[in-house]
Amino acid sequence: MDEIRIDNLKIFAHHGVFEHENINGQNFFVNAVLYTDTERAGTLDNLELSTDYGSVCTLIHKTMTQNTFSLIESVAQKTALEILKNFPLIESVDIEIRKPEAPVEMDFESLSVKIHRGWHTAVIALGSNIGDSRKYIENAVEQFEKSEYIKDLKVSDLIVTKPYGYTEQDDFLNGALICKTVLSPHMLLDFIHSIENSADRVREIHWGPRTLDLDIIFYDDAVIDTPDLTVPHADMHNRTFVLEPLNSIAPYYRHPVLNLTVSQLLEKLKKND
Ligand code: AMP
Repeated sequence: MDEIRIDNLKIFAHHGVFEHENINGQNFFVNAVLYTDTERAGTLDNLELSTDYGSVCTLIHKTMTQNTFSLIESVAQKTALEILKNFPLIESVDIEIRKPEAPVEMDFESLSVKIHRGWHTAVIALGSNIGDSRKYIENAVEQFEKSEYIKDLKVSDLIVTKPYGYTEQDDFLNGALICKTVLSPHMLLDFIHSIENSADRVREIHWGPRTLDLDIIFYDDAVIDTPDLTVPHADMHNRTFVLEPLNSIAPYYRHPVLNLTVSQLLEKLKKND
């Protein structure tokens, strides 16, 4: 990926854990690497097809002077997020915040934090079979729409399906969405849990009735196997109610382990049924 670089942008701001830092302020230096494809802009010599680094510098300055954070981790996080939100051609950024006047009584050149943030593709399965299922799912979608950590949201139609696993319960309403997110997989899991919790979710039986069930199906082509998160979702390839709606919005998404697209997985599942 091509890079646009900003080196040692000097900004006077008021971040720090000590009160005197928030009152008196100090100089910070920002290094930014903007990852973006510059080929079209470079070929046609047209700034509108690229990202104006002057505007990025202005945004960094505004973000750092209009907020006061305790941690340079937060300064870096907020700055990265603002750049990603405001400059759609930038796919990811490195942000380094240097603090040469940090209150440490020793000889040093500067203290710094450097982070990398970017847009990732996430696929989420949506399901509900208690109460006003359509409303619960629509509310969940709305929370995705409203989140500053999400963009380019595409939602499937919702379909009525028969219960899976524990069958003594009402039919489900199922759907899927695909979006871009700046959240890491575990932060995305926290986000969907907070949405589920806000839908008064009560669930005693595994695979039993639920007001709202959100599952991470894919995250880029990541393969994740941790105690609280498995991606791709471990059972998605056996679930018509996941594959069917997903096939309508992302038929070519390729399962990174099974190496089959969503449409191929659905076709295979239907054949085996
Ligand atoms: P469920 O109630 O069936 O949605 O399962 C919830 C638990 O499954 C959560 O607490 C997660 O920690 C765990 N889990 C593992 N992998 C995933 C995934 N891909 N998406 C959502 N939850 C997951």
